[in-house]
Amino acid sequence: MVKQTIQIFARVKPTVRKQQQGIYSIDEDEKLTPSLEIIVPHDLADGFVNNKRESYKFKFQRIFDQGANQETIFENIAKPVAESVLAGYNGTIFAYGQTGSGKTFTITGGAERYSDRGIIPRTLSYIFEQLQKDSSTIYTTRISYLEIYNECGYDLLDPRHEASSLEDLPKVTVFEDPDQNIHLKNLSLHQAATEEEALNLLFLGDTNRMIAETPMNQASTRSHCIFSIHLSSKEPGSATVRHAKLHLVDLAGSERVAKTGVGGQLLTEAKYINLSLHYLEQVIIALSEKHRSHIPYRNSMMTSVLRDSLGGNCMTTMIATLSLEKRNIDESISTCRFAQRVALIKNEAVLNEEIDPRLMIIRLQKEIQELKDELAIVTGEQRTEALTDAELLELEKLITSFLEDQDPESRLEVGTDMRKIHHCFHYLKKLLNDKKIHGKSTVSSEIKDQDCQEPLKEKEYKKLRDLLQQRDNEINILVNMLKKEKKKAQDALHSSGMDRSECGHSQSSPFPPGNPEGLRTLPSSAPTQVQDVNTFGYRSSLLHRKTVMREEMSLGRQEAFEIFKRDHADSVTIEDNKQILKQRFSEAKALGESINETRSKIGRLKEEITQRHMQQVALGISENVAMPSMPDLLEEKLRSQLEEEKIRYKMMFTRLKALKVEIEHLQLLMDKAKVKLQKEFEAWWAEEATSLQVNSPAVNSLNHMKPFPQTPESQRERSQLLCNQSDVNARKILPLPCPIPHSREPSSTSASLEDSIPEKPASSIPLTGDSQTDSDILAFIKARQSILQKKSPFVLCPQSHLSFVQPSPYGKGLSDGLVT
Ligand code: ADP
Ligand code: MG
Repeated sequence: MVKQTIQIFARVKPTVRKQQQGIYSIDEDEKLTPSLEIIVPHDLADGFVNNKRESYKFKFQRIFDQGANQETIFENIAKPVAESVLAGYNGTIFAYGQTGSGKTFTITGGAERYSDRGIIPRTLSYIFEQLQKDSSTIYTTRISYLEIYNECGYDLLDPRHEASSLEDLPKVTVFEDPDQNIHLKNLSLHQAATEEEALNLLFLGDTNRMIAETPMNQASTRSHCIFSIHLSSKEPGSATVRHAKLHLVDLAGSERVAKTGVGGQLLTEAKYINLSLHYLEQVIIALSEKHRSHIPYRNSMMTSVLRDSLGGNCMTTMIATLSLEKRNIDESISTCRFAQRVALIKNEAVLNEEIDPRLMIIRLQKEIQELKDELAIVTGEQRTEALTDAELLELEKLITSFLEDQDPESRLEVGTDMRKIHHCFHYLKKLLNDKKIHGKSTVSSEIKDQDCQEPLKEKEYKKLRDLLQQRDNEINILVNMLKKEKKKAQDALHSSGMDRSECGHSQSSPFPPGNPEGLRTLPSSAPTQVQDVNTFGYRSSLLHRKTVMREEMSLGRQEAFEIFKRDHADSVTIEDNKQILKQRFSEAKALGESINETRSKIGRLKEEITQRHMQQVALGISENVAMPSMPDLLEEKLRSQLEEEKIRYKMMFTRLKALKVEIEHLQLLMDKAKVKLQKEFEAWWAEEATSLQVNSPAVNSLNHMKPFPQTPESQRERSQLLCNQSDVNARKILPLPCPIPHSREPSSTSASLEDSIPEKPASSIPLTGDSQTDSDILAFIKARQSILQKKSPFVLCPQSHLSFVQPSPYGKGLSDGLVT
């Protein structure tokens, strides 16, 4: 048993505008427990914090300041937890902090760069790497991904992937068995045999999470997401199985309701998140107080699910994410206060071992049989009658399966019946003779001679040959993947450069379809058991669905999509990633070629060694002398060259594998960005249609329009804005992706719009489908564009463009996000 308090870490998010930054300092001198000091100026203390203190000091296990990168966070926070999970203990890492403080960035990662990948993908990578290294244990890895929103659980790994809102996802419920163990009903568990399969599941869940989010539910802010890795391990031949769970938790934003001041429907939702965080706090207070017998876990779904992680059988770590800008100081202080409470909680992690009853039965049956056999010997029981045909057949089957069993520890169990033992020997002899006769016809006598003299070497060659064959297959698969990907990348580049008239054709969808084949690279060994699911299928059909949606678009809509895409900040990211992908592909291709060369070289060296060896043997036979006892220098040299080439081969192969993971990650990031773009386009399009409807004839149209889509940050700001509106207003404004720039004057533009918009009764405009209507909306968009262009060069340069001109070092979110 390992007793440990919950480990608390702090991570400070980079501040973009230094003048907005609050005053804080990190004291690293106190080596064991560093502390974070936050200074609240008197004027702020009067306004925000109900307390006139100036300085607040909090202790953490470690504090990661703005410059800490994802690798450092993984190495220091997640790796130790992953290690204890590999050793058989449960682990939990949860991120707590206000919206925008970097919880998702820390747990899942940024959506743009490979280097921004967060704790989940890095942990998966680490765990699978370790599993591969340990061949003495049989491991099974399963994944689940749960989202809790408004006290209701949703399975993000829904195999039907038809979700367009949270309600479409399967609902997950919690129940407790008589032993007070918590179970989650309806939460699917997916076996992942490789890192790649696990990553696909993560991206599938994240895509579902994104698609299911609407401006109304703001799920990313208001829900808790729990990504769980369930690891089972077993020694071969043992009936004991170890189970360990790792929960990686992205909690809802911890900001207080009072501050957001929402009303109506939104209030209920905010109450729920805050209620569940409130219950989390209650549980933590109860746990941190001595002699409390009742811990109110059952009050909320989240605390029920995380019961083991809080004061139970688990090694738990909390990351307090802090945004230390002046206006966020009070929230940051409450996050730190919460962390101090959490640090008092003691957990007791035990190894979760259980006996697998099926394996136990098999073991006991064997034992009984052995005892019976021993008894037969002791009592001298004689068996004289001949074995029946059925018994002989059974015996032969046993021998065949014994010979085919790759497990070196497998045994041929026939008991102590001498008739059976004799028959086994006869049968094996027969098999051996048959093989020899058959072998003679194919193997040359020279090789046979060599076989007799050098059985070990031949064995070694055979092993090498098999290994090479296997590597050959893997490389062929990789090379095929590369060819396909290269073609797709070229197609994508080609299609993005295509002129618009071409874009009208159905096959020229703005994005190439999903790339499931490319991901099916290295063969995975274990079959999917828990659910008959195929993650590649998930991904491909998810993207296929999106592509089909786009292919069904009318010409007007496709053109509008091109305009939308061109001006969307994510296009820059997609293009950047495309370029990186291209580079990686060419690196992988060059590496593949070098690998092939090395492989041929290894082949040649082996051939030379064999020939050299045969020469030596022939020399020995012709001169009738024994093999020279002196080492053959040439052969030694060849062997050391062979070793060197093998090392080179291995190194290149490892690099190729790492490249493959990076390529896949980038592809998944791009797929996700594309789905997001599509989703935002749909929302924007619907909004434009509404705008046209409401403003037709185009009076005041500019009041409602915003040129282009936004980042999650600005959406969040919008929702904050909404929080201050009545519910009715909120609903009206909701589909708008961004606030209206102040510089626009509706009156001066409405007249021109009136001129350019085709007349059509607003009430007859359906939002989708009708291409005549679509072309009206397109005309509306274009007309407005041309007016805006005339008006100000900046209007058509929405935030997305600004971030292109001046990229933020921390991604677009930070540049246009929390800063007011
Ligand atoms: P939360 O999940 O807490 O609401 P996010 O993780 O979505 O916050 O972060 C908000 C924005 O800030 C995102 O655009 C994210 O990329 C960025 N961000 C957060 N933390 C960091 C960091 N440590 N470094 C760079 N960018 C960050
Ligand atoms: Mg988040």
